[in-house]
Amino acid sequence: MKKPRIFLSPPHMSGREQEYIKEAFRTNWIAPLGPNVDAFERELASYVGASEAVAVNSGTAAIHLALSLLGVTRGDTVFCSTLTFVASANPILYQGAEPVFIDSDFDSWNMSPQALQRALQDAALQGKLPKAVIIVNLYGQSAKMDELLTLCDHYQVPVVEDAAESLGSTYKGKPSGTFGHFGVYSFNGNKIITTSGGGMLVSNDVESLQKARFLATQARDPAPYYQHSQVGHNYRLSNILAGVGRAQLEVIDDRVSARRLIFERYQQSLSHLPGISFMPELENSMSNRWLTTLIIDELETGIPSSQIIEAMANENIEARPVWKPLHMQPLFKGATYFSHSEDDDVSAKLFSRGVCLPSGSGMTEEEQTRVVNLLEETLEGVLVTREII
Ligand SMILES: *Cc1c(COP(=O)(O)O)cnc(C)c1O
Repeated sequence: MKKPRIFLSPPHMSGREQEYIKEAFRTNWIAPLGPNVDAFERELASYVGASEAVAVNSGTAAIHLALSLLGVTRGDTVFCSTLTFVASANPILYQGAEPVFIDSDFDSWNMSPQALQRALQDAALQGKLPKAVIIVNLYGQSAKMDELLTLCDHYQVPVVEDAAESLGSTYKGKPSGTFGHFGVYSFNGNKIITTSGGGMLVSNDVESLQKARFLATQARDPAPYYQHSQVGHNYRLSNILAGVGRAQLEVIDDRVSARRLIFERYQQSLSHLPGISFMPELENSMSNRWLTTLIIDELETGIPSSQIIEAMANENIEARPVWKPLHMQPLFKGATYFSHSEDDDVSAKLFSRGVCLPSGSGMTEEEQTRVVNLLEETLEGVLVTREII
């Protein structure tokens, strides 16, 4: 009989969601606006310490609005971390602009300040600076914000911080997602908290956020009839889903502690194995450890990361490779790319060696033991021998 499935990062309800949903039904606020939306925006802004927040129906929509507000348009370029989910960069294409991808470094797995510096110098020489830099905080880890922001400030290029995976993390004590001109969070079903689908745009630029609300509501002019002078979107979050978000936000700190504990258990039980190294935690930062991620050194283990993922799949355990870098995607073929150094393509290495382990905050110790045991067996070659016999 097949063992029960262990998912990578399933939703984890607090139990209070239904109360907010019930209230939405009782008051008939079944719309993409209402008291839950307003409260969720206020509560999230206050949690991360941003002036204001705009709730939208996905993290991707929030990134799109940010680029639109920064005036990104046809013919512009936008820099973006290469090691990320495609949603970080798709909005660049929605705006008809051209992405330029920036490699990671090994300390953070996030945007390499070294590569960004080369890219900005090159752009300045060509007289065409990017309209924005999208900095991603991967798997809960903050990027090297001090170094990256110093560079962007020097060239006066605004930053959009993709914190879809890093809600609850901090960098030098300050919440991840509050470093750029705009910050973006996602509440997709697999994120650290979820509304099933949803996102949030935060900023201290309150005027721009007002404009974001306008653009997210089909850009309807203030007139007694339906009048539109520019293109808009239908991006607002449902009042029912915002209710789910409010209940989830109440337990965010518990969710972060749970994921960090899961990471620690993995680290304690697996670090003795040769050829394994975990994603580091950047100095002076606190990662929410959204996904526990590790690197397999095939030379030492004798097994490629793909074989480990396959062994897990055979046991009904969902593990995944690290994001395939965007500069390697067919979609972005021909895009300009700046690697960490001339001969070091860090993101490509992380992709070929990295594995994300099941990390849901609701994961039990028994489930985690199943993952650990399987990894040990696989790496110690027990399974391989068994197959031969
Ligand atoms: C999930 C995610 C997004 C997109 O969020 P959605 O809510 O799914 O649209 C963007 N960037 C990163 C890095 C993500 O992980």
